[in-house]
Amino acid sequence: MFHMDMTMPDAVDFIDDAKLEGLVAGMREDPEAVRRVIAKSLSKEALTVEETAVLLGAESPALVEEIFEAARTLKREVYGNRIVFFAPLYVGNFCVNDCKYCGFRRSLTTAVRHTLSDEELVRETQALEALGHKRLILVYGESPKYDPEFIAHTVRTVYGTKNGRGEIRRVNINAAPLDEAGFRTVKAAGIGTYQIFQETYHKATYAQWHPAATTKGNYLWRLNAFDRAFRAGIDDMGLGVLFGLYDWRFEVLAMVTHARYLQATFGVGPHTLSFPRIKPAEGLKLDLKWQVSDAEYKRLVAILRLAVPYTGLIMTAREPAELRHEVLAFGVSQIDAGTKLEIGGYQEKRTGAEQVLNREQFQVGDTRSLDEVIGEILDDGYIPSFCTSCYRLGRTGEHFMEYAIPGFIGKFCTPNAIMTLAEYVQDYASPAVKVKGEAVIARELEKLEPRLQVEAKARLARIRAGERDLYF
Ligand code: SAM
Ligand code: SF4
Repeated sequence: MFHMDMTMPDAVDFIDDAKLEGLVAGMREDPEAVRRVIAKSLSKEALTVEETAVLLGAESPALVEEIFEAARTLKREVYGNRIVFFAPLYVGNFCVNDCKYCGFRRSLTTAVRHTLSDEELVRETQALEALGHKRLILVYGESPKYDPEFIAHTVRTVYGTKNGRGEIRRVNINAAPLDEAGFRTVKAAGIGTYQIFQETYHKATYAQWHPAATTKGNYLWRLNAFDRAFRAGIDDMGLGVLFGLYDWRFEVLAMVTHARYLQATFGVGPHTLSFPRIKPAEGLKLDLKWQVSDAEYKRLVAILRLAVPYTGLIMTAREPAELRHEVLAFGVSQIDAGTKLEIGGYQEKRTGAEQVLNREQFQVGDTRSLDEVIGEILDDGYIPSFCTSCYRLGRTGEHFMEYAIPGFIGKFCTPNAIMTLAEYVQDYASPAVKVKGEAVIARELEKLEPRLQVEAKARLARIRAGERDLYF
């Protein structure tokens, strides 16, 4: 039987609730201070928690618009116009925890429970490959069934599954916190990012939503998950908050605190931040006091962009299509599309709009297919990317942050986005998206510096001739 060592001799609580509460209580709009902080952020310096609080204090529409405009500028200047695509794959929904917002919680007797068999996992992976996906995040409930060996086995199974020219080149995981030995096991299977959300950093609220008698009820065990992961050799970490449980401004300050803590302690900040809003789930009524409105959601994304200029931002299909469209411009770097949350949902013929809540964790807001979303973002001037190059060339962690190295994006990310878009266009795109994709490839090639352009054109010719997986 799997045993997890939950003793925490080195536990660190770096979230000072009272300090963050004080910053929230003291927030007053100060246009001059807001502009000073914006200027610092535009010089690509990370913000302190206090500076982030200054931005959160802005309320008047004109000042909020200045923050949005700054986020758009930073997005254009630092990140360029790529959007990286991924898909979540739900492996199993057995769960020992009872998080009151979740469709997998153990007390929910109407939930249909299932763990994908190896054959089913292969079929799900092939169904995703047939759409053009190259990057997945595997998601698991917390259960003795999903011990580190099991997680590692599923990661290896996905890497080993091909479908014609289709293959998964990067597997991230979102799984309950492990002990150090467990993290070493999943690291050895070749995971990309280890993602885990604190849900809420506010301790009293955390206790309300996560019963004390459950594993997840242990706030510090979760808060220190990345410390253990890092000690086990994982240097690619994705943190997040489930917005709607507590005051969004407190949570933004806490996320920035966590990011700064990791940077200061391990020399590596988080690779990504996630900021899902709570969505309807089986048996969950959403009359939440702290529900985040669309207007607040836009502010929180723009402020996170300015606060952590070197961290990727992930926006999931929990959000509706129109809002995703608008918020992309604030510097979101990764999105999912064509998402199915039902266990086994990718092989089924049901359309995205027909969701069955007792078979999934929560409701998806953007039910469009991958091809539709790619078509839209091509129209908007972005380059969709399926690039997995850095992870595979070991460009992770302490010595590497793609946004921090001057010229890196132009030299590696943009050409790699073009290469992976060319693969998508050749192998998977609908006729209309093919036309748009080819136009964007031609336009983006012209923008590369001359020597790189020659090399990229040569590689594109090889892709058109049938070679795959050529990266810079
Ligand atoms: N069981 C692991 C855990 O709790 O960390 C990992 C997987 S859990 C299925 C992934 C995430 O889904 C949770 O961290 C939570 O933030 C999110 N989630 C749960 N219920 C949700 C809901 N009703 N709406 C939106 N997101 C939800
Ligand atoms: Fe289980 Fe995770 Fe859902 Fe909590 S959020 S009930 S731990 S699957």
